[in-house]
Amino acid sequence: MKKVHIKSFGCQMNVYDGQRMADILSHQGYEETATPEGADLILLNTCHIRDRAVQKVYSELGKLRDIKNAQLAGGQETKIVVAGCVAQAEGAEIQHRQPAVDLVVGPQAYHRLPELLAEAARKRVVDTDLPIEDKFGFLPAPKPQIIRARGVSAFVTVQEGCDKFCAFCVVPYTRGAEFSRPAAQVLAEVERLAEAGVRDVTLIGQNVNAYHGEGPGGAVWGLARLMRRVAEVPGIARIRYTTSHPRDMDDDLIAAHRDLPQAMPFLHLPVQAGSDRILAAMNRKHTSDEYRRLIERIREARPDIALSSDFIVGFPGETDADFEDTIRLVDEIGFASSYSFKYSSRPGTPAAELDAQIPRAVMDERLYRLQERIEHHRQAFNAAIVGRTVDVLLERAGRHPGQLAGKSPYLQAVQIESETNQIGDIVQVTIERAGSNSLFGRLAEAGRTDGKDMAA
Ligand code: SAM
Ligand code: SF4
Repeated sequence: MKKVHIKSFGCQMNVYDGQRMADILSHQGYEETATPEGADLILLNTCHIRDRAVQKVYSELGKLRDIKNAQLAGGQETKIVVAGCVAQAEGAEIQHRQPAVDLVVGPQAYHRLPELLAEAARKRVVDTDLPIEDKFGFLPAPKPQIIRARGVSAFVTVQEGCDKFCAFCVVPYTRGAEFSRPAAQVLAEVERLAEAGVRDVTLIGQNVNAYHGEGPGGAVWGLARLMRRVAEVPGIARIRYTTSHPRDMDDDLIAAHRDLPQAMPFLHLPVQAGSDRILAAMNRKHTSDEYRRLIERIREARPDIALSSDFIVGFPGETDADFEDTIRLVDEIGFASSYSFKYSSRPGTPAAELDAQIPRAVMDERLYRLQERIEHHRQAFNAAIVGRTVDVLLERAGRHPGQLAGKSPYLQAVQIESETNQIGDIVQVTIERAGSNSLFGRLAEAGRTDGKDMAA
């Protein structure tokens, strides 16, 4: 068998796309290998969201060129493929900067990998089309043993692209316009995953709660309706979704958090900033008070919900007072976790044209302060769970023999000691201690499980 090494950067969509490309290649006689050394095909699945992510790709490509040359000297030919959002945004420029790259393929064209690789055997190839056909209709199903090897939690893309055009963001340009997969196609994929042992699905999309897929009889289904149907798939015990936009959190979706036992009490709902002036300049289409009221409604529906957000510091024109508004919002909401970034100017986005770009040292200082507050709230959220008994889905072997690692409903990593339980079980765990990255607990009483052995 030929060997392929796939390295994905960036968001969950890229993790999903990386797995789909592995599935396509497994039908072409490739098996995955964990290192680039020895691989016949090396595929970088790239991220364009911030400048640093792009620079990482070029430095990685320099290392891969050396591996390619060394392998050629030993008689082995190696092909290098760049996929993902850098491929879409920079196209042929990638091969100018790094001539060792054989094929550049965008995120909407990778279903054509077999033909493109055949072409790349003869010449260098670039395919960054946004084709009219739906790539999902061309993706082969993964083999059950491959699904099992990937674990009991899986991502399923239900929506792609974005029509929101936040002033700082490249996604509408790299991933294109919003597109929702038909409900039947999503359900078939979830059923296949569940049959192979998957218990926890995260429905993903750049703007997942804008989902409006075709349902049976041509009806349009929103995300809540899709979730209710996914919850009926035998074996699926947990459902999450990411990433959502505050403007698309409708009543039906909020009600799903109240009504659906499978809807996990965790929601990633990026606000980006706490200042209305900056939110308007970002073209976020909501104010900070609208966000606060939305959180109140979500908490009314599901009081224990854990919330998380993304934040950008140093957006052009952000004053100290604007930044203090962000800190105030963080302290008021008390997020269970969050991601935070320094603003990165992206060519072609409206914000890149704005005056008043913020000096790096100011951004550094603001990021440091914001992360200190985020960490404070994360630790407080974790500490508050100590002493409680929660359901934990066991996902993998732990660090030490006899340990198993899993996730709480609030997406916290949990470690337990257990000789009797299996990966895929959902067990009740009493949390005894919060470490810096994981919670530690013991099986509650008789170590009740839901009795399903999904590990085989
Ligand atoms: N669609 C999601 C939303 O609306 O929040 C997130 C998409 S984006 C892949 C993930 C995060 O990257 C964003 O929420 C934002 O915080 C961050 N991001 C996007 N563009 C950025 C930029 N130019 N500079 C810094 N951070 C950026
Ligand atoms: Fe980017 Fe805004 Fe769309 Fe999120 S909603 S992907 S931040 S443009």
